[in-house]
Amino acid sequence: MPSAGDAVTIHTLRGFRDLLPPESSLFTRIEAAARDVFSLYGYQELRIPTIELKELFVKSTGDTTDIVEKEMYAFTDGGGREVAVRPEGTPGVVRAYIENNLGQTGRNGKYFYIGNMFRAERPQAGRYREFTQIGAEHIGNASPFADAETITMLVRLLEKAGVGGCSVVLNSLGCAECRKTYREILLEYLRLNIAGLCEPCKGRIERNPLRALDCKTDGPALAEKAPKLFLCPACAEHFARTQELLKISKVEHQVNTSLVRGLDYYTSTVFEVRSSALGSQDAVCGGGRYDDLVKSMGGPASPAIGWAVGVDRLAMLLKDKARMESPSAFVIAASDGARTAAFGLLGELRAAGISADFSNFELSLKSQMRSADRSGAAVALILGEDEIKNATCAVKTLKEKADQRTVPMTELLTEVKRIIS
Ligand code: AMP
Repeated sequence: MPSAGDAVTIHTLRGFRDLLPPESSLFTRIEAAARDVFSLYGYQELRIPTIELKELFVKSTGDTTDIVEKEMYAFTDGGGREVAVRPEGTPGVVRAYIENNLGQTGRNGKYFYIGNMFRAERPQAGRYREFTQIGAEHIGNASPFADAETITMLVRLLEKAGVGGCSVVLNSLGCAECRKTYREILLEYLRLNIAGLCEPCKGRIERNPLRALDCKTDGPALAEKAPKLFLCPACAEHFARTQELLKISKVEHQVNTSLVRGLDYYTSTVFEVRSSALGSQDAVCGGGRYDDLVKSMGGPASPAIGWAVGVDRLAMLLKDKARMESPSAFVIAASDGARTAAFGLLGELRAAGISADFSNFELSLKSQMRSADRSGAAVALILGEDEIKNATCAVKTLKEKADQRTVPMTELLTEVKRIIS
């Protein structure tokens, strides 16, 4: 046991990580692209708590799902409440929608969130225990226009973030009526073939037979052999119309009847976006309709559709584009008497919208110049005794390794803007 005062190196927990520059800049870029696209489509931000009552996720995500059954960080808090760190965003959004009466007071039922989610999954490339999701929820619109709009928005977001090579896969799980009939047919099939199922599926088919289709072990074989879901005329019409509208939006997609999605609340249209560049964890985004969830959570009957995209996986796809942020200008004090003026100059540059940095005015000129070169700045601005006396600044364009020039202080901002433009 180390005694108090011993230095102990503490590491991150397994499956958790530090996001360092330049990779962290990809997250910023992706999130900025998402905000731009959300604003084009009339979505407003909802910030929901990281910790909620455990019951929220058990009731909405579903107690037979892997997320809730095996992966949730749940604990009893100091007040004896059973709470959980959110594994996904939709339950919190639905709770907030009901609790704040947003169906009455909200503008259009369109919300987005950006936040960290937590699942105690087995970590591997592209799978972490803490990861960031950007999610969109459109509550209160049952029409296929909402389905087509939200999927189109998702594709536009990926384009705007610079992510290419993704494919949209689509299916329909039908309404409660379609699934009631199908549930019986599927359950019958699974009972007859129970010997071939994995242990967890054997234990849950009676409660949730559809989960077997989504099971990582049993799913692939069942997708080929198990009976298929038949949609009622209204659901078939909704699904066909959604696809037609996606064509009008020029969103390429494929229908895959074995796409089920692992959460309990999905109904009707479900979809995923995948990228073959990602290896085994190839899902970039998952989503679908959850027409019955708001009502089942105690709210007004409100059909809804949403999705969540994994920012960590988008960042993996964009990793070649990660760039260290560089300031435009780097300010150097070449003498003791110039330090205060150099500090003032930093403020003037930033006030003019020019990003500016410095190292340590108390170090030698040579050391400050080295930092300027390392910073990637376009221009170094050097203030010494002569410059202060003459109200000038020495300007050195770093990338071109050009000679230093002397510029009057009154013209400096214009000159810097010219160089960096
Ligand atoms: P889901 O909420 O499971 O539908 O996931 C939506 C998206 O979040 C997925 O397509 C992934 O991009 C991302 N995602 C889910 N789980 C993880 C994880 N453990 N690590 C990183 N990204 C994840």
